[in-house]
Amino acid sequence: MASVFGHALVGATLSKILDKNQVKLLLVLAMISAILPDIDVLAFKFGYAYEHWLGHRGFTHSIFFAIIWSAVLSLIFGKSKKMIFFVVLFLATISHAILDAMTTGGLGVGFFIPFNDSRYFFGCRPIQVSPIGISKFFSEWGIRVILSELLWIGVPCAVVLIFKRINQKYSSTKKSYS
Ligand SMILES: [Zn+2]
Repeated sequence: MASVFGHALVGATLSKILDKNQVKLLLVLAMISAILPDIDVLAFKFGYAYEHWLGHRGFTHSIFFAIIWSAVLSLIFGKSKKMIFFVVLFLATISHAILDAMTTGGLGVGFFIPFNDSRYFFGCRPIQVSPIGISKFFSEWGIRVILSELLWIGVPCAVVLIFKRINQKYSSTKKSYS
């Protein structure tokens, strides 16, 4: 995993740039969805091995899970905005697996579970893998994770959000002149 902070930041950024109505509920759901896949660490407690399809980076990190999860949430909470809810929540959920596939450690991500149990990493893996468990996070390892995520997740998200702000300002100035 990347850390909870890295994942949540990507979820929030996706909601901010894609939802022109800036629905607060969608922002919160996107952050939750971006963190949720790591609920599978509980599988260790139930005795499932990492490489099992229900193990860590397995089913809850798959494209199939992201589709089902975002469809259910958009049906329950989307009201007249089901489509944008679905798009944002799907991207937020799958962003988790994409970030994990760019980390330096652990097993790869089971993108195609339940159809194919293979695990995958991307060719480019600059993000320092985050420790599992809070106590290990408060260590030198945790600091390395935060620094790596600031660079590889924080900076791109900030750039995108700043660009959106400038673009918004520009279009509102243009409107006031027309
Ligand atoms: Zn994960």
